Amino acid sequence: MSAIILDGKKLAAKLEEETLGRVMQLKEKGITPGLAFILVGEDPASVVYVRSKNKACERCGIRSVTCHLPEDVTQEELEETLHKLADDPEVHGMLLQLPIPAHLDEARAIACIPPHKDVDGFHHVNAGTLVNGAPGIRACTPLGIMDLVKLSGVETRGKHAVVIGRSAIVGKPAALLLLEADCTVTICHSKTKDLSFYTRQADILVSAVGKAGLITGDMVKPGAVVIDAGIARVDGKVVGDVDRASTEPVAGWLSPVPGGCGPMTIAELMVNTVSIAEADYAE
Ligand code: NAP
Repeated sequence: MSAIILDGKKLAAKLEEETLGRVMQLKEKGITPGLAFILVGEDPASVVYVRSKNKACERCGIRSVTCHLPEDVTQEELEETLHKLADDPEVHGMLLQLPIPAHLDEARAIACIPPHKDVDGFHHVNAGTLVNGAPGIRACTPLGIMDLVKLSGVETRGKHAVVIGRSAIVGKPAALLLLEADCTVTICHSKTKDLSFYTRQADILVSAVGKAGLITGDMVKPGAVVIDAGIARVDGKVVGDVDRASTEPVAGWLSPVPGGCGPMTIAELMVNTVSIAEADYAE
């Protein structure tokens, strides 16, 4: 047996095409969805991420603006920028590229983004709606993870999903979305004893850690759906948490790195932006 590869690149392209269609309809009504990026400093990975998100905006017909603030920007200056964008009716979504420099208060900055413009779904109001099962904006990587699970065609109801990682931006929201999809969910983290005891029980295994080779084939239940959200670098190459060579012969489905959660995260960002613009118009 060899796992079916869940092609995130192809699925993301399809989502972006659908998004472009929705943008065209909005433009006919005189509305151009707008997404603002707030980038602080010169962190090379952040600069690259913002660039690729800008390119996706171009592909989808979304107007994007990037507010590039200096590394030594003060909390007050950052918040002033965020408030200005919050008040700008042409900006439907706002994204503060993380991480921001250590002298800045990330939680306070995110709280300056109005929940209805919080395109990343990181604001505590949106996090709260996810916990409560109320409508709200969902974080992009977890949305991408769910769409990749859906692509496998595997019924989620009653399945045991094991999520490795408990961050507020990937692990926890992914676990909550899987719970919403009627999975029985186990969350593992760095203090989990005997990780493979849990991973071997997983019908759906999501790894969101950032440690190359964390998951090997002997830790995977035969036929499982394995979603690799991790990003690590080995010899200058981008890899995930999952050791593909040993896992591919065991898993039923596998999302690759690169080409899995990465492009899906960007596509979901486009979808969230357009959904916000549509909701604005409907008001
Ligand atoms: P994070 O905040 O560093 O969280 C990592 C999580 O992994 C933590 O919960 C940590 O546990 C857990 N962990 C660390 N070592 C472990 C181990 N040996 N066994 C089990 N769990 C372990 O990272 P994040 O922001 O959630 O991101 C996770 C990964 O996803 C990273 O590689 C990141 O680059 C990637 N990512 C990808 C995308 C994308 O677009 N594809 C987007 C966002 C993030 P503790 O809580 O106990 O410390």
